[in-house]
Amino acid sequence: MPIATMQTKNKDAFAVALEQATGRTVKRDVLLSQYNSLRVGGLADLFIEVCHEQELIGAVQLARRSEVPFLVIGNGTNLIFTDAGVRGLVIRNRADHFEIKEEYNMDSIWYVESGTLWGSLCREAAQLGWGDITWGISIPGSLGGAVVSNAGAHGGELDDVLVSARVLNTGNDIEDWPAARFKLAYRSSVLKAEGRRQISPPLIVTAVTIRLHRMDTVELQARMKQWQRDRIASQPAGKTVGSTFKNPPGDSAGRLLEAAGLKGYRYREVEFSPKHANFLMNLGAATYADVKRILSYAQETVWQKFGVRLEPEVEIVGEDV
Ligand SMILES: Cc1cc2nc3c(=O)[nH]c(=O)nc-3n(C[C@H](O)[C@H](O)[C@H](O)COP(=O)(O)OP(=O)(O)OC[C@H]3O[C@@H](n4cnc5c(N)ncnc54)[C@H](O)[C@@H]3O)c2cc1C
Repeated sequence: MPIATMQTKNKDAFAVALEQATGRTVKRDVLLSQYNSLRVGGLADLFIEVCHEQELIGAVQLARRSEVPFLVIGNGTNLIFTDAGVRGLVIRNRADHFEIKEEYNMDSIWYVESGTLWGSLCREAAQLGWGDITWGISIPGSLGGAVVSNAGAHGGELDDVLVSARVLNTGNDIEDWPAARFKLAYRSSVLKAEGRRQISPPLIVTAVTIRLHRMDTVELQARMKQWQRDRIASQPAGKTVGSTFKNPPGDSAGRLLEAAGLKGYRYREVEFSPKHANFLMNLGAATYADVKRILSYAQETVWQKFGVRLEPEVEIVGEDV
């Protein structure tokens, strides 16, 4: 039964069952703007944070069996919640255990839960002399979110190291998918929603397996420091989703936005950064309505001037009324 039509007592019963299944607290009417890097969005009816792969699996399985609409999020750095929010359950995935499963002379296979953040994985791998995922230090998201968009930076991307991933399918079964099955390409995969995210998506990534190679710790750490310096120099700090639009083939979204006169363009509380035109910034109390307006204005302007359709890199999540 969809949650919009659920009686309060059914919602309560579901929340109790979910707490029993996961051992975690279920919260009501949670403001989603806290859980995405642009700091925009309305309420989720129900909200839970899970910290182990088994809890993530349990939460999704129960939501599916109970026919409660659900959404799994990682660190909220590639999505924008709508002002109307999510009618259903938002599961924030913080399952962040990782370990070396197989170690050989020159390479190793790592099992990484999907809520793990790139920063902690990159630092640990470098510390132990395994690389090269130093580029991941620039990505503020989770490994699960990275499978969805084939995250990458500084010439590296997930596709370079991904061996396989565990997914929970619509039948509530776990499957091991080899990397090729995800059809990873520039900021896309079979899991990626182009524009708008479907609630209760068919596939949830619970963990990934990656292959790393023996490398020099000092060199890996120096590389990460360099990537961090480059980012500070080239990208604005603040409330943002990072790159708003994908780069069209052979061009860059930032260059097109700038050439269209949109670098520094502001609409109410949102602005294309004067430092990097493809970075949409929340200047204070932006709403999704502001975001929607400026995105379609930018797409229309670039289309009129250059005949290029800019596709969003970020996903829009939630009801849009
Ligand atoms: C300042 C800044 C810089 C950035 N730089 C880069 C960069 O250099 N390169 C780059 O590629 N990206 C970059 N990003 C974008 C973002 O960090 C990546 O896309 C990242 O992979 C998103 O991960 P996340 O955990 O935040 O995903 P979220 O934003 O939480 O989720 C994104 C989508 O994936 C889905 N999802 C999340 N976890 C799972 C899961 N376990 N199973 C199934 N679906 C899931 C969500 O439902 C949502 O639809 C940047 C973002 C910011 C804010």
